[in-house]
Amino acid sequence: MIKVSGIKVPAAEGKKFIKRHAARVLGVKPEDITALEVLKESVDSRKKPDVYFIYTAAVGLREGVTPRGRFETYVPDKYTPVTGAFPPENRPVVVGMGPAGLFAALTLAEGGVPCTVIERGQPVEQRDRDVNRFWSSGKLDTESNVQFGEGGAGTFSDGKLTTGTNDPRIGYVFRRFAEFGAPEEILYLAKPHIGTDRLKTVVKNIREHLISLGCDIRFGSKFTGFSTDENGLNSVQIQDKDGVYELKTRHLILAPGNGARDTFRMLHDHGVRMEPKSFAVGVRIEHLQRDIDMTQYGEAATLGTLPASSYKLAVHLTSGRGVFTFCVCPGGSVVAASSETGGVVTNGMSDFARDGKNINGGLLVSVTPADFDGLFGGMEFQAELERSAFRHGGGAYGAPAQLVKDFLGRRPSTDHGRVAPTYRPAVRFCNLWDVLPGFICEAIAEALPLMNRKIRGFADGDAVLTAAETRSSSPVRILRDENYGASVPGIYPCGEGAGYAGGITTSSVDGIKCAEKILESLK
Ligand SMILES: Cc1cc2nc3c(=O)[nH]c(=O)nc-3n(C[C@H](O)[C@H](O)[C@H](O)COP(=O)(O)OP(=O)(O)OC[C@H]3O[C@@H](n4cnc5c(N)ncnc54)[C@H](O)[C@@H]3O)c2cc1C
Repeated sequence: MIKVSGIKVPAAEGKKFIKRHAARVLGVKPEDITALEVLKESVDSRKKPDVYFIYTAAVGLREGVTPRGRFETYVPDKYTPVTGAFPPENRPVVVGMGPAGLFAALTLAEGGVPCTVIERGQPVEQRDRDVNRFWSSGKLDTESNVQFGEGGAGTFSDGKLTTGTNDPRIGYVFRRFAEFGAPEEILYLAKPHIGTDRLKTVVKNIREHLISLGCDIRFGSKFTGFSTDENGLNSVQIQDKDGVYELKTRHLILAPGNGARDTFRMLHDHGVRMEPKSFAVGVRIEHLQRDIDMTQYGEAATLGTLPASSYKLAVHLTSGRGVFTFCVCPGGSVVAASSETGGVVTNGMSDFARDGKNINGGLLVSVTPADFDGLFGGMEFQAELERSAFRHGGGAYGAPAQLVKDFLGRRPSTDHGRVAPTYRPAVRFCNLWDVLPGFICEAIAEALPLMNRKIRGFADGDAVLTAAETRSSSPVRILRDENYGASVPGIYPCGEGAGYAGGITTSSVDGIKCAEKILESLK
């Protein structure tokens, strides 16, 4: 097979005509192509209204047929999992069943070392009921919610898998997701996503596979402390509904996500070294999907062949702050993602079909450790924003919201216009300048017109801003050495909460890497 890139197919035609266009690039007849596997699909809408699908494909040609020009041989990307480890006397423990913990457990178990997995939240079926009850009634379960539970923070998400990083494990992660029930198209789309509806099945399938490999999975179980001896970690304390007990172990993969504030404090009290890090806070911005589609695709948006469009925007302000869009959810909804009593947190999710009326994205302002005092200054800042949003949202997990035109005019909104907000249980219209700190509002107000120059309609007066988005990344980093060990030997900090990943894909990859370090030490 040879690798052929730059196969351009008009949006009106779509993927089923790819063979014809691949033949044109190769200078052969379509019937000379005996095999064609799409490796990558993206959309090029730079010259609207002419919008194209752009493909890279692995192509097989009939014997004796030579393409015009030079094409490299297709070599599939390869990742070889670590094998050959011997299970230790006491099983490794993995804390957290988000992408990092799941892939760490999978790597350990498939490497011959079954582990015990500790998750404070509930299995995805129960969690789904708890989350839906919260969205419909405002009754929050602080241990089973959009942050905590099987699948981690990504379960109620768009399941976007895009990442700016490069690692041979990325393709492997996608293949495993597909094997466990994610749509096959994630294997070739330039901007792959799974959708929350499909993710729930994927997560459940991974759990069942882990159990079949001998893993012991304990839900409703919180990691609350640990003890050490002269060799480092020797046990972890777990709290469940019956009380606190101890598990002997020399290996702990710690993947608690970025919302586990009590866990960060406990680790600090136990002498685990960490440092504050930069993160970002702001709001969700919500538009009509068809408006953004028209801006991104022009008239081609009406063809019905193109996926729901998205955007990615970033501006640097004269103040030195960056404002950027984050975790955009086409055809999705803004979700209540609280995990603490008296705090409102927003985020976004979509189904695989991305067929909702609105598109929403985080609109975030960067903040750095210089903005706060102390190790947990950033974490306290996040929590204070969440409490402010709770108060201004009416005190029952409603979220404060404002139309862009009113935000820019610094006057309260009283109702929505063309864009009906999707946040549940409800939004409360107000003046976000009373909710968020002045420097955050000023940065967003300065950024909106600049972003509107890049995407017409981005600062549409009727677009809705909903506060507060605070958990886009971790405010602390748990320090680790080149072998991924923390300051306490035997603890392996991992994933987004530990400060080493941002998003589902990189968290999964980090989980694999931490597990590899343990497997290598057990050879
Ligand atoms: C609504 C929403 C939408 C998102 N959309 C996307 C998206 O489309 N694409 C993307 O790439 N990223 C998205 N993200 C971010 C993504 O979910 C995270 O980057 C990713 O889940 C981090 O993985 P993780 O395994 O490090 O941590 P998490 O997924 O946060 O998992 C940590 C787990 O640890 C458990 N835990 C915490 N403390 C303890 C303890 N003491 N004891 C036992 N268990 C504990 C938690 O309950 C949780 O299940 C979204 C996040 C949210 C909230």
